[in-house]
Amino acid sequence: MRQSLTRELTNLIERGRDRQLRLAVTGLSRSGKTAFLTSLVNQLRHAGLEARLDLMPAARQGRLLGARRVSQPDLGVPRFPYDQAMASLDSEPPRWPEPTRGISELRLSIRYRPARRALLRGETAELSLDLFDYPGEWLLDLPLLGHDYPGWSRAMLAGAGEQRRALLAEWERAAARLDPAAEANEAELADIAALYARSLQAAREAGFANLQPGRFLLPGDLEGAPVLQFFPLPALAEADEGALAKLPPESIYATLAARFRHYQHHIVRPFYRDHFRRFDRQIVLVDVLGALNAGPERFEDLSQALATLMQSFDYGKRSLLSRLFAPRIDKLAIAATKADHVTPEQHANLTALLEALLAEPLQDLRYANVPVKALSLAAIRATEAHEVNHRNERSPALRGTTLEGEEVLVFPGEVPAKLPETDFWARQGFDFRAFRPAPREGGALPHIRLDAALDWLIGDKLQ
Ligand code: GDP
Repeated sequence: MRQSLTRELTNLIERGRDRQLRLAVTGLSRSGKTAFLTSLVNQLRHAGLEARLDLMPAARQGRLLGARRVSQPDLGVPRFPYDQAMASLDSEPPRWPEPTRGISELRLSIRYRPARRALLRGETAELSLDLFDYPGEWLLDLPLLGHDYPGWSRAMLAGAGEQRRALLAEWERAAARLDPAAEANEAELADIAALYARSLQAAREAGFANLQPGRFLLPGDLEGAPVLQFFPLPALAEADEGALAKLPPESIYATLAARFRHYQHHIVRPFYRDHFRRFDRQIVLVDVLGALNAGPERFEDLSQALATLMQSFDYGKRSLLSRLFAPRIDKLAIAATKADHVTPEQHANLTALLEALLAEPLQDLRYANVPVKALSLAAIRATEAHEVNHRNERSPALRGTTLEGEEVLVFPGEVPAKLPETDFWARQGFDFRAFRPAPREGGALPHIRLDAALDWLIGDKLQ
């Protein structure tokens, strides 16, 4: 108890001196969070040595001296597995790190020479940077707090497109047979909930992103717990709310509604209250290229998922979030990841497309006066840009090694600068494959513009 009080106090003092920052990294599954955080830690640890951080003035001016890992303050949060991630990248052949599945944390102490004072006295200072990584899927649950169970049920079923619906079919057939007033049978509900969870998993594997509830996809230690055994009830589409409210507690409706409320209060709220509310800065990673590769319905679905996810950054006074949690993020970055999948002259388009995809949330954020920057980056660059001569014309290309180990020289296609229209999908010239990370000879990981992201997120604290 005393120890945790001292820790809280030290944190408070550090924060007061502006020497502590809590930076969170999020994004949907496979958006590149693990690669990003691994590279970020790697770059800062090699700062002042061989890391290439030219887009960070503090590094360019030689004021960034390095960083070391220190023990993290939140003992209940798993530690981000940096060493394991580096071991994967250093294995033979190199492998991508295993993605993290829940929230994790790592604290760095960054040493730098302040811009002004340093000139006079050669003094150094430390910034304590707490890095968090958590699944963007958890943010998809925010709107769930704004619904009651019947409202959520209806919203879930109304929004699904044709392909999504097909994936839900088996669950829907089973769930449609349930009478809300009938007595709940635990085993039956567990089976149907499992079908629902499976259909969400299948939808995710098919490239869909707008999936709720988020913990059904990444249950962590809640696997199999009754709190994860609810689902929308198709019969509620026409049900009368007054009559529903009168159903006995052992009815199917009341049982599922109680689980839904439990999920709201014991899973969604605590994440916002205990973690999210305390982040100072945030970067949201988006695999725009992956969605572009997967076709129009997935792209549209990503767009909806992002709109939902970004509600967690809507600081308007009347937003659900502000009313419930009064968060305090004061700077946000949004990044299109894996930019090394396309040739460098496409990067500007990639950023423009990301901005287009997030046009509305970005507008709201700017209106709410939250500084936000959109950029494209590769946390761990796996390809090299080349030029090839084709019929006497120079054209850009990428050289890389596929996951299967084949060396290729490719032009993956053009990235549209605006939201793609039907004709883009019709003449789809966009096709990229996954690359294997390049072997390293020690030193810092190769990246594209990770330094720009870092500067936006922490540069002002290194003044
Ligand atoms: P997470 O689920 O958000 O943690 O995503 P990961 O960081 O595990 O990334 C998912 C996959 O995307 C990785 O296994 C890589 O195949 C790929 N990836 C992530 N970052 C990069 C990058 O900077 N460049 C390339 N070429 N691929 C990347």
